[in-house]
Amino acid sequence: MSTKERVIDGRAIAKGFQSDLREEIESLKKFGIFPKLAVVWVGDDPASGYYFRAKEKLAGELGMGFEGLHLQKSTNTRNLIAKLGSLNQDITVHGILVEFPLPEEIDSRSIQDAIAPEKDVDGVTLISQGKLFAGKESFIPATPYGVIKLLEACEVELQGKHAVVLGRGEVVGKPLAMLLLKANATVTICHSRTKDLKRHTLQADVLCAAVGVPHLVTEEMIKPGAAVIDIGYNALKDGTIVGDVDFEKAKGKAGLITPVKGGVGAMTATMIMANTIQAAKAICSK
Ligand code: NAP
Repeated sequence: MSTKERVIDGRAIAKGFQSDLREEIESLKKFGIFPKLAVVWVGDDPASGYYFRAKEKLAGELGMGFEGLHLQKSTNTRNLIAKLGSLNQDITVHGILVEFPLPEEIDSRSIQDAIAPEKDVDGVTLISQGKLFAGKESFIPATPYGVIKLLEACEVELQGKHAVVLGRGEVVGKPLAMLLLKANATVTICHSRTKDLKRHTLQADVLCAAVGVPHLVTEEMIKPGAAVIDIGYNALKDGTIVGDVDFEKAKGKAGLITPVKGGVGAMTATMIMANTIQAAKAICSK
């Protein structure tokens, strides 16, 4: 396999999903169901602004409703909970997502749990997280959901394979480990206190990095032929965006590898839309 063939084209895979979603939205409209996503962005974090606008654009392209709320940095927890309460009550809204990180003064946990579980399309409430942990049907957080869909699209076998997840964060690492476990992989989770990271990564048939440390994973840490999924998105001082994996060197060693732009990131917003459609169908069938 050439190096080019080994690089996973997340954008192309996401486009495939989007075309299915577009069709599904069109057919739902015939039954009077108009899926709509509400996204709340607080403050002026540029990355959050970028993700907010990307979702607005994608919702438009898919023919889905979008309600964007951009609130001042000075907003407090109580105001934000009240806004979420209104969105919870709004029968035209099926999915609600808050862009994180929130300003430090805001209690993120309370905000996550202020979203109605049936509209929690990024799986951030304790109810969604608990269901995922228990192996029950739930909204799966978009980024790990996108990783699983990428692996499926590339026909990467998970059953009986050794998957190593770097990072135990609430948004990516932990839920991803649960999903890999559900797919019958044997899962190792590594974190900042793990001793001898390389000893673990070299065992990985599937190596997923969600750490936030530029180029933490070097070529020598990769088992030849492994599927390497880089979830890291790190801005260097000069503005360059790099992943947690040293892509240029690692791509010769991995069997499959995601680039940082056009890899996992391309799937995240798409999975939010997929979850919003599921939410709309469930809410409207009640
Ligand atoms: P997070 O919650 O801060 O978690 C980071 C994890 O990495 C922690 O578990 C931490 O360990 C571990 N870690 C830190 N330094 C390490 C080291 N040297 N060796 C091993 N483990 C180490 O971060 P996150 O929200 O999961 O995000 C992780 C990365 O994914 C970031 O680059 C973020 O920008 C990116 N991301 C991308 C997308 C996307 O759509 N592409 C979406 C979300 C996040 P401890 O638990 O011990 O502290």
